[in-house]
Amino acid sequence: MSKNLDFSLEIFPPKISDGIEKIYGCLVGMSKVAPDFISVTYSAGQAKKGLTTEVCQYLQNTYGIPAVAHLTCAGQTRESINLSLEEMKKAGIKSILALRGDLTAEKKVNDLVHATDLIEQINAFGEFDIYGACYPEGHVESPSFDRDIQVMKMKNDLGVKTFLSQLFFDNKDFLHMRDMATAAGVTATLSAGIMPITSAKQIVRMVQLSGARIPSKAAKMLSKYENNEVALCKAGLDYAVRQIRGLVREGVKSIHLYTMNNIHTAEYVRAGIEDLI
Ligand code: FAD
Repeated sequence: MSKNLDFSLEIFPPKISDGIEKIYGCLVGMSKVAPDFISVTYSAGQAKKGLTTEVCQYLQNTYGIPAVAHLTCAGQTRESINLSLEEMKKAGIKSILALRGDLTAEKKVNDLVHATDLIEQINAFGEFDIYGACYPEGHVESPSFDRDIQVMKMKNDLGVKTFLSQLFFDNKDFLHMRDMATAAGVTATLSAGIMPITSAKQIVRMVQLSGARIPSKAAKMLSKYENNEVALCKAGLDYAVRQIRGLVREGVKSIHLYTMNNIHTAEYVRAGIEDLI
């Protein structure tokens, strides 16, 4: 098996009202896992707005871990985006995951319609490496999978160097997307987004949010351990480790782990793939 697998983590920040201290314990734990970078999610809604920039700055300054700040454009104006970019630049952030964001009654499209518009604005601002999102099972609003691949190519041609994928549980979906994207001329790194199943409640919510399909192997695991949360968590983490090892056997060189701020998840998965990193 090949070595030098890139391994990154995703975390979410505390709300502004909770203060950055709330996440210090989590950040110590995540830093010990020594990822190549940590990405920090973004929430645009006023009530939910979190400390994305502050957490990224803290990770870089305290632990020397490169941070990728998520940024969504739905509901924002060009002016508000420029203010965010100014703030990020001042905070020493070098990389942004440029996203549209999910549309809600509060977050309708405004000045910027697609992530591609945000990417263009970040390009015009300068300063940042740009990451983009991709969808192994297709984006829920896309008329076809081919359309998604065309959008990946647009993002690629606008300068996206790395795609972080939506979570998926069947490697075939990611590998199919990779083959289609490569055939379409996408040259950016495709990092596979892996979310271990650690509880039945969590996975129901995530599947609802992402639209990810649960393949029969994972469904069997969920029903086998439906009354044993501890055993389900271990089985879910082992499933994720097997998933990553399977992807690496197929030549995948980059993994992005959705940690849900759970240090045990990050440690367990890292230990299970240590020989590949
Ligand atoms: P887009 O790329 O704009 O795609 C949205 C739809 O529009 C797709 O159907 C696409 O095919 C189509 N499309 C895109 N560009 C064009 C174009 N130029 N012309 C025509 N059609 C186009 N959400 C958050 O709120 N905060 C987060 O921190 C966050 N982190 C995420 C991290 C990852 C790795 C992923 C995969 C998703 C994340 N999301 C987050 C969710 C994301 O905001 C939603 O999936 C959203 O619905 C789409 O975002 P996008 O950037 O992929 O949008």
